[in-house]
Amino acid sequence: MKIGVLALQGAVAEHIRMLGLAGAEGVVIKRTEQLEELDGLIIPGGESTTIGKLMRTYGFIEAIREFSARRKPVFGTCAGMILVAKELSGQEEAHLGLMDIRVARNAFGRQRESFETDLAVKGMENTVRAVFIRAPLIESVGGNVDVLSVYQDQIVAARQEHLLAASFHPELTDDYGFHSYFLDMVRQYR
Ligand code: GLN
Repeated sequence: MKIGVLALQGAVAEHIRMLGLAGAEGVVIKRTEQLEELDGLIIPGGESTTIGKLMRTYGFIEAIREFSARRKPVFGTCAGMILVAKELSGQEEAHLGLMDIRVARNAFGRQRESFETDLAVKGMENTVRAVFIRAPLIESVGGNVDVLSVYQDQIVAARQEHLLAASFHPELTDDYGFHSYFLDMVRQYR
């Protein structure tokens, strides 16, 4: 399986490494034409405003919308989750607008800018080690969105058909459980 990691800004190499551990080939994606060869795509964490701007500049907004319309799985982590959301809290415009979730940026407050925890995830046997860095959270979900994980009463991971989103960075530890979960989704849609 070939899984792309959008490489405009953010935690790219770490996702490539985790994909390898989970048994897939990770591909660094810098041009829209490269999407053709992929079975799935990860949009990494970083700074959503920056990645969003670069996506517009390089034609990725349309290209990823088309990719998703072909039922190719897309996984947004942290800033990536902000980018896939249909709605952002406050005045901000959505970016890709793919997934029926409303997301609030930097939602865990200053004193909790970053932290690490073990999360229970629906459909997964073991907990997952998750790193939160100025993390967003999911304020509300649409009808066919499945909530996968909750941390202190806040939704931090969800799935809608071929779309997956997580508030945290699942690529910054040695625990590739969440990547394995995404690869199972990709197999389902291949
Ligand atoms: N705070 C960042 C944003 O709003 C996301 C942080 C991250 O990806 N670790 O884009």
